[in-house]
Amino acid sequence: MNLHRFVKYLRWGLLALFTVLITWAAYLHQVLGGGRIPSIHALCPFGGLESLYSFFTTGTFIGKIFSGTMILFAITLVLVIVFRKSFCGLICPFGAIQEFFAWVGRTVFHKRLILPQALDRVLRYLKYLVLLVTVGYAWKTAGLWMAPYDPWSAYAHLSDGVKAVWNEAPVGLTILGLTIAGSILYDRVFCKYLCPMGAFNGIVGKISPFKVARNEDKCLHCGLCSKQCPVNLDVARSETITSAECINCQTCVLNCPAEGALLLKEGRMTVQPLVVLFLVMALFFVPIFVSQSMGVYQLRPEPVSRGQSIQIDEVRGYMTIREAAEATRMEIKTFYEKFQIPETVPDDTKMKEIKDKAPGYDFHKAKETAGSK
Ligand code: SF4
Ligand code: SF4
Repeated sequence: MNLHRFVKYLRWGLLALFTVLITWAAYLHQVLGGGRIPSIHALCPFGGLESLYSFFTTGTFIGKIFSGTMILFAITLVLVIVFRKSFCGLICPFGAIQEFFAWVGRTVFHKRLILPQALDRVLRYLKYLVLLVTVGYAWKTAGLWMAPYDPWSAYAHLSDGVKAVWNEAPVGLTILGLTIAGSILYDRVFCKYLCPMGAFNGIVGKISPFKVARNEDKCLHCGLCSKQCPVNLDVARSETITSAECINCQTCVLNCPAEGALLLKEGRMTVQPLVVLFLVMALFFVPIFVSQSMGVYQLRPEPVSRGQSIQIDEVRGYMTIREAAEATRMEIKTFYEKFQIPETVPDDTKMKEIKDKAPGYDFHKAKETAGSK
């Protein structure tokens, strides 16, 4: 096996590993609750951007976001400044899922489709609009308002059953379905057209000194690099890839048959794909381990110990009604009234599961109302 093929498999292996780990964490979060396993929102660097305004103005984070999410955001920012959108191309599990379905599509249909250029160009601006609206409104409302529309959040809740996700987040689930179906025919549809994190990374990544560069003298003009690029950049006819769309996945480099014709470069310095992969992993994971060992990397709320009192807005979905009433120092009857819980729901029911016993009950809305009374 030559080195390029090895790196290609290594990249796929790492993406698959991150996807499995995150999917497992999402499942455990559903089963064991947010007090023991972080939510998908806390594990996504984009939550850090959504919480940035609240952090700088009040020193606090918005709901479901913790210091670890802010650290993940800061690490991603550094990674993008150095190596462009490497987070998207080498780490992001949602990108990996799209690549997996692209592989399925390629295996079944033996071809990939590309939207007409004019439509493709217009649609690519959509993600910047999504970024603006998502972050602007999250800063204004100090909340993860986008969760019901977020396909990644819908994916993370699938272990609850498709019906349950459909009841809670029909838009998010529809976008997830369209992303999967679209990925079978088109490459990285969500990344290219809708992902706000990708849009942010693309803008910041423009200042990165490293770019994929093609050596005209060594190039065989076979066009394989353009054909394999998951975001459809015309590598074969470019000298340097400066586009904000490049996810630095190294696919073009790894598929190029002419040695040295394509490489990631900064001036005279070239970086081999294996080194790119190693440096990206190191830049991302070493700070996580360091901040974890320093005790500042927190991704879930402090557990509520017996006898400790909490505010209404600190009531969590994983608490039972009885635990939440005790922690908020309320009589159980008062708690039922304040949170508008039907009397038929037993008090050992988890707050987030009340809706299963009282259809139409919305825990987050009830918490907001209870907090404003
Ligand atoms: S240009 Fe190369 S590195 Fe950039 S996205 Fe396309 S295949 Fe990946
Ligand atoms: S794959 Fe390599 S040889 Fe073929 S066109 Fe692209 S840069 Fe040139």
